[in-house]
Amino acid sequence: MNETSEYEIRLANTVAILEKIASEFTPAVFASSLAAEDMVLTDLILRRQLNIGIFSLETGRLHKETLAMLDKIRATYAVDIQLFKPNLDAVEDYVRQHGVNAFYDSVNMRKECCRIRKVEPLNRALKDKKAWITGQRRAQSATRTELAVQEDDVAHAMQKFNPLADWSEDDVWHYIRSNNVPYNALHDKGYPSIGCEPCTRAIQPGEDVRAGRWWWENPESKECGLHVVDGKLVRIKAI
Ligand code: SF4
Repeated sequence: MNETSEYEIRLANTVAILEKIASEFTPAVFASSLAAEDMVLTDLILRRQLNIGIFSLETGRLHKETLAMLDKIRATYAVDIQLFKPNLDAVEDYVRQHGVNAFYDSVNMRKECCRIRKVEPLNRALKDKKAWITGQRRAQSATRTELAVQEDDVAHAMQKFNPLADWSEDDVWHYIRSNNVPYNALHDKGYPSIGCEPCTRAIQPGEDVRAGRWWWENPESKECGLHVVDGKLVRIKAI
């Protein structure tokens, strides 16, 4: 089997998973971080007009290149991505008590910032849904090597799907280039993984693709809480 046919099988499987979610798990939503993997899923969902909502967490600390993706998506698909923003009082309290960049001070301070700016808005976005979708891949980091395509997300009481779990980085870029999918300009500036501006740096050739995320922490702590409950990764029950 050559490489192209293996890619085509992975693509066909991903489309089948998305179609199954759209028909059997309504209402379902896709949490897009507006990075390359998320644009593959956005393109697959919107071109097929699948019944899956798409939202993004606007943390208030995103790069201008990431925010520019909202206009690119509107221009390409005539669709507005729904934005969920942090509670303003919670952000103001954190900044007043700890400072605007306190996430550099400790893992706990970083996780508290992620809780306010990402986890609480995510919980609002997932309210009353039957399933949610992410663009995570196994090959992305030490924390994702056992990622399943379908998981029982006990914390949110719903199913969680990672339809790109077995995709390689080459698969992602092959899809983007062959389908003219718009992508975040930061990917051309050494950012394979993109988060908030103060917590993401460009990486050097040969570094792990998530080495630029919270680079001052050790690899095992590098999740934002979106996929973590009570300090543990939510990989409780792969299906
Ligand atoms: S990634 Fe950084 S700025 Fe963004 S929510 Fe987490 S700690 Fe805060």
